[in-house]
Amino acid sequence: MRAAVINNERIEIKEYEKPALANSGKGAIIKVLGSGLCGSDIIKYLHKQNGIVLGHEVVGEITEIDTETNFKQGDIIVMGHHIPCGECVFCKGKSYSMCKQFKQTNIRPGGFSEYIFASELHLQNTTHKIPKNLSLTDASFMEPLGCCIRAAERADLPENSKVAVIGLGTIGLLMGQALKAFGHEVIGIDLIKDRLDLAEKFGFNEAKNAVEDGSVDAVFLTAGANATVNSAQKYVRNGGTILIFSSIADDNIGFSNNAIYYRELKVLSTYSATPDTLKKALKLLEDKIVRVDGLTTEYNLEDLQKAIEDTLSNKIMKAYIRIGE
Ligand SMILES: [Zn+2]
Ligand SMILES: [Zn+2]
Repeated sequence: MRAAVINNERIEIKEYEKPALANSGKGAIIKVLGSGLCGSDIIKYLHKQNGIVLGHEVVGEITEIDTETNFKQGDIIVMGHHIPCGECVFCKGKSYSMCKQFKQTNIRPGGFSEYIFASELHLQNTTHKIPKNLSLTDASFMEPLGCCIRAAERADLPENSKVAVIGLGTIGLLMGQALKAFGHEVIGIDLIKDRLDLAEKFGFNEAKNAVEDGSVDAVFLTAGANATVNSAQKYVRNGGTILIFSSIADDNIGFSNNAIYYRELKVLSTYSATPDTLKKALKLLEDKIVRVDGLTTEYNLEDLQKAIEDTLSNKIMKAYIRIGE
């Protein structure tokens, strides 16, 4: 089978051994129909993590199965890739992404390949049948939206909080809609006009280039730009919350110790989803409470390299790599 592998500055399509149930343990073989391209995939590509097959926002068809679950051959599913153990010190503290099992569980070899193996644990925790009214591309947003729901939960804001989302890429647009679903008033911030228009179309209360200093209860950072760290500190009111959901290029640019101290700011972060937030995400997509229409551009597996380049140059919002039929 074919799979897309990182090789320095290139993505190469290589022949891979097709996963087999016989030597993988309980689980399922899934014919990948498509995978969304995630910002975290692009970071791994830029960091030249050679030899890995990226892709974890997977939709596919179960072609072989050996589990105690209700899934069967022929089911069209969407799945996520990490499962927390629920019992370690990290899970008990709700830092699921730090759990050792969470980090170790993954789909093999990765979503940008023709077939993957999904363990029974994946089928039990992070796999769902795609509801009839959802297209494959729309369903592929389960994982990124699940990450946003987790961020909204962890920030634990009182209802009706005024929240600014800085960065209206795909994650920012999902984050804002997730925050709306939690009952908050959401202002989208970006410099790109098309993205502000999208935010308005998706029901943000407002979308603009900036807000007044100290005018919002919380700021969610979804743009990986150095300048946004400073903006977040300015926009948030005293005693407010800043949630970080992005890495930035220059890690020496930080939050001001004294601003956090004297203004009693709460600064926290999240990354990744949990089995519970994946389930909630799929429901919000199914009920069309969160909209993703018009966000994706489709590419073939051979064009993954181009999909990455187009994403990096802001030519497209979100790439979906179509693989099988
Ligand atoms: Zn993702
Ligand atoms: Zn754990």
